[in-house]
Amino acid sequence: MPGLDPIKLSEIVYHGVARIRDGVEERRYYRFRGGRWYGGIATGDVVGCNLRCKFCWSWRYSFYTDKGYYQSPMRVYEKLVGIAYKRRYRFVRLSGGEPTITMKHLCSLLDLLDGEKLIFILETNGLLLGYYRDYAECLAGYNKVVVRVSFKGTTPEEFEKLTGARREFYEYQFKALENLLDAGLKPGVQVYPAVMLSFSPEENIQLFIDRLRSIHPALAQEIDPEYVILYPHVVWLLKKNGLKPLKAYRPNGIPEFMI
Ligand code: SF4
Repeated sequence: MPGLDPIKLSEIVYHGVARIRDGVEERRYYRFRGGRWYGGIATGDVVGCNLRCKFCWSWRYSFYTDKGYYQSPMRVYEKLVGIAYKRRYRFVRLSGGEPTITMKHLCSLLDLLDGEKLIFILETNGLLLGYYRDYAECLAGYNKVVVRVSFKGTTPEEFEKLTGARREFYEYQFKALENLLDAGLKPGVQVYPAVMLSFSPEENIQLFIDRLRSIHPALAQEIDPEYVILYPHVVWLLKKNGLKPLKAYRPNGIPEFMI
């Protein structure tokens, strides 16, 4: 899908994954789970995304809008808190697709979580936080939120090749970091970058680190590297798109180099 506009796609996806009931914004989710990430975290996996990453581990749900079930912020809160306290986790998150497509739903959930002793990790590609400055300002109103902006590649060219979105939109991922810092989130603590490195040569990675450092040195020190995990459905998607990672991991954690 060359030339995709993720901002326009967000609006289209919104109408498939969101609905208003009694004045409350509900979002489609496909599952709730506990897991080992972050040392233990309760996760709600949302349906729908504004990118079409050719390595996406959740593409069977993130590329669609008609799967899963509508959940109110209250129902999501109850499920996340239930899993977290039962398993003694400190963290909760939304993952699976792009949570910021339904920002009212997200902020209602954060309102409910505000009274809990839990840290909320927002996993996002950041495009909408970069595009809509007020989204970043809204998140800054919560002191137990950590925003993990996941970059799709280390250059605009990689971004375009990996996501199907036009390369100029890559800049909004950096803009998200800037907006979040401007809104008052602490760099490296309340906001940090992750980046898909499976397809990136070393020289591009260095350029990426330099760019982060120019925004704030703490961002360059707190990069969370991501690599493709070769689940069968991910291998299928990579092959379909003729994409070969330079480095990936088998599901059992063994690295695989394909140079
Ligand atoms: S941004 Fe994340 S959820 Fe969306 S398509 Fe890319 S990898 Fe999948």
